[in-house]
Amino acid sequence: MARDKTLIVGNWKMNLNMGEASLYVHQLSKMVKPHRDVEVILAPTSLVLQSLSLQINPRQFKLAAQNFYWRDQGAYTGEISASQLRGVVQYALVGHSERRHVFHESDKDTRAKVQAAIRNRIKPILCIGETAFERSEGETNDVLHDQLIGGLANITSEELEQVAIAYEPVWAIGSGQNAVPADVTAAARAIRSQIKHLYGEKAANNIAILYGGSVKEDSAADYLALDEIDGLLVGGASLDAHVFNEIIKKAHKPASAGKE
Ligand code: PEP
Repeated sequence: MARDKTLIVGNWKMNLNMGEASLYVHQLSKMVKPHRDVEVILAPTSLVLQSLSLQINPRQFKLAAQNFYWRDQGAYTGEISASQLRGVVQYALVGHSERRHVFHESDKDTRAKVQAAIRNRIKPILCIGETAFERSEGETNDVLHDQLIGGLANITSEELEQVAIAYEPVWAIGSGQNAVPADVTAAARAIRSQIKHLYGEKAANNIAILYGGSVKEDSAADYLALDEIDGLLVGGASLDAHVFNEIIKKAHKPASAGKE
């Protein structure tokens, strides 16, 4: 995905019911000023995607699915497909650490979902990151390498233009323990170097890389200031519309007002 906008994604996980979601969007829409250099993406429970798609101003917010099944239709009781989400969401999280670690999704599942999203004109945000153990063993770059290869297998250079990568160290998610900016830069460089190896230099320079993991109002600007980082994936801190708006505000760079 091109790096012309800063992406700020709010992953609500399994929080907020229908009434709460609608109220939240009502409140946030009064606060957020649309800017051409910022894309605000809400990832609510699947239950409210349809109703929020009618409530939001599409210039102000985009929607993302937190999850979906990779087949387009069939006898898969309880599942929602990317083809059913088509036209409702513009983005989808794929390979989130909670999908990998709580629901045991493999790289094979992740790759099938990346392909299903692209097939249905939904931009996948491929989440990758190491566990605390892997980090302590010095395996971070190997994990990023394996999850990138696993998630992007069979994706063409042209299709890669629809993909964003989120670097989300598992130990930082929901823990209050965020990665230091220097480590985030190092991980993003490792990701770009792997993309360069797979797809060439232009693709590596062009792909959007987000950081996620316990981002709060007071740490957001530190990550957004990093040259390698093109946005944030925010979980807990996105659940309060006021706090999320403060994070969104930090993404707009008046210095790049040429884009306005
Ligand atoms: C996430 O859900 O991807 C996430 C980063 O959560 P949190 O911000 O709560 O760590």
